[in-house]
Amino acid sequence: MGRFDGRVAVITGAARGIGFGTATRYAEEGASVAIVDLDETAATEAAAKLPLTEGAQAVGVGADVSDAASVDAAIERVVTELGGIHVLVNNAGITRDNLLFKMTEEDWDLVMGVHLKGAFLMTKAAQKHFVEQKYGKVVNISSISALGNRGQANYSAAKMGIQGFTRTLGIELGPFGINVNAVAPGFIATEMTDATAARLKMDVEEFRRLNAEANPVKRVGHPEDIAAAVTFLSSDEASYVTGQTLYVDGGISLGT
Ligand code: NAP
Repeated sequence: MGRFDGRVAVITGAARGIGFGTATRYAEEGASVAIVDLDETAATEAAAKLPLTEGAQAVGVGADVSDAASVDAAIERVVTELGGIHVLVNNAGITRDNLLFKMTEEDWDLVMGVHLKGAFLMTKAAQKHFVEQKYGKVVNISSISALGNRGQANYSAAKMGIQGFTRTLGIELGPFGINVNAVAPGFIATEMTDATAARLKMDVEEFRRLNAEANPVKRVGHPEDIAAAVTFLSSDEASYVTGQTLYVDGGISLGT
């Protein structure tokens, strides 16, 4: 018996990184899984790699979470092809880092569009089904950067915005059997943080070592660390938890 037997989980930005790690965990625990990502080929290839249990299915869906028509089509396709939707993980993300004086309006709009508007559009499209069936789980991916991070005014604002969005939906959707929570990762070794190392002209391994040193548990995080928290918050074991943000960051937010 898996915790997600008979459930359908939709994870955005899941062709790789934290999203793929999370999709893998849902598949291992019995869910049918939809991988939503910008590139349909990458999403389909990732879906084909999932360790599905007997009777479960996976689909890769190409969609831009910041575009309403694309989002609505994606959710309808998932419901038709996988037979419903029970869990939504808003994970798709991008960075466009720069100090404020160099940050362009486009850098601001792109980051807000994917993280904040993307979570809004996906959740709005999914909640219609959740309210009808009086059951649904939403997990939004925030970040340690919500607490402030030099060069990330856009990303930090979006990730703290996600926390307010999560709290508000916890209040609004709780009476309909829907739990809404957030996970705020610290440093997780993925292509996103490898790209940051490249931008800072640092060796990837050295960058990871320095980030490991910076937190109390003295290691970097991996997609599996986030997957464990996300699946817990979207499981029935956590049905009394809503509107919360769980920092999964090796303790760095404790500010030692
Ligand atoms: P990643 O490896 O860069 O993966 C992000 C995925 O999202 C990519 O497959 C990307 O597709 C997709 N995506 C981007 N824009 C999209 C859009 N408009 N619609 C649909 N999909 C889109 O990143 P990650 O490190 O796994 O991060 C996942 C989430 O965790 C993000 O929200 C990120 O902000 C958050 N987070 C990460 C860390 C970390 O240390 N890695 C820490 C805190 C929070 P393309 O490749 O086609 O662009």
